Amino acid sequence: MNQHNQSFSGGVFHPSIPGGRAGAEITINRGEIIAYTQCDGQPVFSIPINQCQLDLGGASGRMLFCRTPDGQLTIFSEDKHFAQALDLHSGGLLGNQINTLKRAVRSESKKLGFWILASSLACALILFIGYFAMLWAAKATIASLPISIDEKIGKLALDSMDVGKRLDSAHPASKLVQSIVDKLQPHAAIPNMKFKVIVVEDPQVNAFALPGGQIVVFTGLIREATSAEQIAGVLAHEMSHATLRHGLQSVSQSLGIVAAIQLFVGDIGGLVALGAQIAQQSILTSYSRTSETEADLEGARMLHAAKIDPQAMAEFFGLLKEKEGDIPDAIAWISTHPQHSTRIENIKNHQKSFPATQYEPLDLNLKEAQEAL
Ligand SMILES: [Zn+2]
Repeated sequence: MNQHNQSFSGGVFHPSIPGGRAGAEITINRGEIIAYTQCDGQPVFSIPINQCQLDLGGASGRMLFCRTPDGQLTIFSEDKHFAQALDLHSGGLLGNQINTLKRAVRSESKKLGFWILASSLACALILFIGYFAMLWAAKATIASLPISIDEKIGKLALDSMDVGKRLDSAHPASKLVQSIVDKLQPHAAIPNMKFKVIVVEDPQVNAFALPGGQIVVFTGLIREATSAEQIAGVLAHEMSHATLRHGLQSVSQSLGIVAAIQLFVGDIGGLVALGAQIAQQSILTSYSRTSETEADLEGARMLHAAKIDPQAMAEFFGLLKEKEGDIPDAIAWISTHPQHSTRIENIKNHQKSFPATQYEPLDLNLKEAQEAL
């Protein structure tokens, strides 16, 4: 097609047209932009190229408008060759205007790219915040629930576990552990939590707490401890798992928050059983690292409040670390409580924030308890 006969479909705005607007066939000829309208009488409009004022717009942002300086007449087309033809026929007169418009289009698409990126980042941020808000909401929900739910789950979990032969509560080892728990109890974060000690005859150097405050201590741990304070350290840590309600947190994480809330507020029969199973698993494997750190720091606080040096807790970690190779069963508590070097450091640093106090040695006979085992 000859350049001079090139035509573009578009339209015209002019007050003389009914409705102010009409579709048109546009050509460029002898220095003029000519629009042949398709309405009654088929009036023809024209604008000299050297008077044309260009603008971009329309829904696509790519409609090229050519206006007379008084703004009365506008001829427009979306044809992508329209600008090219104008540039060519204007003998370079419209080149500057066209380039300015092209730059504006480019910067618009850059801006659009920026907004797409920015909104993607905003979405990611909202999801990220939402995740933590949900964790926080789960924690807040758990904090508002009655302790009786922890107790139910804990009891069920223990009943379904084969922990082994339990020592009589009158046994010196049971009495020793009970005395330590009694000394720590007044300083527990949940004052009305009923802690119950169960000493089990087992060579494993291990102890764990169930939701609701039942604490299982294996005789291996009592045998290996070199002071009653070290046992107090482990007990304070385990009691803290119970008062910080880490069991319920594991349950809510495993079941999902919605199911967890159902469990906590609704008919709890079947779900308690499921919760007990999950609690049991998380006890036998390990709590999250965050939960372990929380239990260490809260345990150190309890020990300090009970005038027992929190160093005893760190000391016990050190002892287990040393004995790791010597006694195979020492591995039990260590395997569920990794990163002991970091934890010893954390406890030491945390202790610096406590007010000065005079620690008192526990008036308990560890040797006698050990000999009775
Ligand atoms: Zn722990």
